[in-house]
Amino acid sequence: MAVQDLSDLFGAGSELEQLIGRFSPRPGQVLMAKAIEEALADQMDLVVEAATGTGKTLAYLLPVLLQTERAIISTGTLNLQDQLFNRDLPLALNALGIEKDTALLKGRSNYLCLHRLEQYEKDESVRDGEWSDDFAAVYAWARHTLSGDVAELDSVGTDSGVWPFVTSTQDNCLGNECPLFSKCHVVRARRQAQAADLVVVNHHLLFADLSLKQTGFGEVLPGADVMVIDEAHQIPDTAMRFFSEGISAWQVRELARDSLAACGQAPGTLAILRKPTEQVRAAIDRAMARFADMPAKGEFSKIAGLVPEFESLIKALRTLQQGLSEVAEQSRDLSNCLERATSLEKRLGHFVAGDREYIRWFSNRSGRFSLNLTPLDIAEPLREIRAQTPATWIMTSATLGVAGKFDHFTRRLGLDHCRELIIPTPFDYASQTRLWIPKELPEPSSPHHTEALLEQVMPLIKASQGRAFLLFTSHRALRQAAIWLRANTDFNLQVQEEAARRTLLERFLSEPNSILLGAASFWEGVDVPGKSLSVVVIDKLPFAPPDDPILEATIKAATEKGERAFATVQIPHAVLSLKQGVGRLIRQAEDFGVMVIGDPRIKTRSYGRIFLKSLPAMTEVDAVNEAIDFLYEQFEEVDD
Ligand code: SF4
Repeated sequence: MAVQDLSDLFGAGSELEQLIGRFSPRPGQVLMAKAIEEALADQMDLVVEAATGTGKTLAYLLPVLLQTERAIISTGTLNLQDQLFNRDLPLALNALGIEKDTALLKGRSNYLCLHRLEQYEKDESVRDGEWSDDFAAVYAWARHTLSGDVAELDSVGTDSGVWPFVTSTQDNCLGNECPLFSKCHVVRARRQAQAADLVVVNHHLLFADLSLKQTGFGEVLPGADVMVIDEAHQIPDTAMRFFSEGISAWQVRELARDSLAACGQAPGTLAILRKPTEQVRAAIDRAMARFADMPAKGEFSKIAGLVPEFESLIKALRTLQQGLSEVAEQSRDLSNCLERATSLEKRLGHFVAGDREYIRWFSNRSGRFSLNLTPLDIAEPLREIRAQTPATWIMTSATLGVAGKFDHFTRRLGLDHCRELIIPTPFDYASQTRLWIPKELPEPSSPHHTEALLEQVMPLIKASQGRAFLLFTSHRALRQAAIWLRANTDFNLQVQEEAARRTLLERFLSEPNSILLGAASFWEGVDVPGKSLSVVVIDKLPFAPPDDPILEATIKAATEKGERAFATVQIPHAVLSLKQGVGRLIRQAEDFGVMVIGDPRIKTRSYGRIFLKSLPAMTEVDAVNEAIDFLYEQFEEVDD
């Protein structure tokens, strides 16, 4: 399609205008669509930062639908996947007046596993145990569901303990040796995806596939002409996770349980496996007990004292392996358990031995631990993956650039020859917002910082009658703020950790005088357009906590290479997080609000300039009264 045609598709009088109620032509959208059109024609990878309000989803969908035979689009979460597949994609097809075979594919844990359901239906401890009601509901639903997508069964919560028993993992799936393979929901969903012209996936699934972890079924997503990665700022972390190798306490316990469950269908095997299974259970219980007092995460040196426990677990896994190899031929489930015991033993051995190219770290929740080996360098494996696929890669997000540059992103992903584009915001930040950086706050490390910040912003939040997000860089500060606000104000507080995210947002919108207090996950993906949100307060510059073992190792590796890690690793990371947080305030052209950054370092340190340069151009005010006056003016205009 000619360049001119794309302008027409997004312009006044276009089909899109007919289809979208509040459509207005946006130059940035056309610019982005044309850049993608050219990148596809030239088969050049492209990185695009498209500010909120660009309309980036349609900007990539239209050229991709017009120019490619087969496309994969990956986004950050299941919600975004659903939104793209059910709202944006039909709209784009409609606007173009074409038809395509499209598919939505989720990770395997989102589909019912018929084999495990059948297996655990016979196991009283699960069928009649703690989750018996949920198990009965799944069993009844399983009889009539066509898709097997667990989202259909909303009477059973996503956090129910029944799901691990009735969904599969790559470890426990029997693949094409499964007796129910021909009826399998995972298989059906994947076949549909393989046959489709356009598949919508999420990053976890994409990387699981790319890193060939889903070997139970082979590659699911071969041969696309284009890979569009939306929310691409998440890619470095997702890729690191998927090129990692790990072992968790849950996997070991599940292996012990599944081994015993498999004995139920193979006479004579229990006598051989009972004792080794008990030994594995005892060894993992001992290790979990030692982890009970350990921190939530850390690098290997913090748990070096646990090596004897790991070694006794390795020994127990070997004994179980021996037992399983005697009986593995009797059933596919038993041979699957043998493969898992072998793999767990090998991975644990690898973890204990260590590897120069990998970071060894653990995470831990009250003894439920996982041990991980994460590669320091993801650029090389990603280069190899891209070299193996003929696809053009389009990476886009609202937050990719640091002071107008992408180096920290492209270097990390090994994107050596790609085009780059920044689509500036279509919003008039100078008139829609005010930025207030309170003076005379204590240093962020001071124990009085949170309280001092709250005291300063209170007049502003009273003036806006709540309608405020308070975003914190630590859960400790968040809890401290909740206590202070409850003791000193009458606002309705919606506090992360006290209810589910969706419930908090519903209450924030419906209860007057609400303030939402959030940490990490609330900094992105929360969309509250309109005057329900008029103030966003960010307590500190979001430097990652020093106890993050991956960050710690990345800094060490950068330093060893002679880099100034603070500039090349920590600042870019914090800038992107800050951009995400600031991005909550203005979601559409009619929005207005006050942004408060409660960290004096943004003014007093030289690196503060990089942060300010990376943010949209807000009008800065010196005092709280100016910010309050601005809000009153805006509220009056809206009421008129
Ligand atoms: S093939 Fe795997 S996911 Fe499908 S039913 Fe069998 S074990 Fe479950």
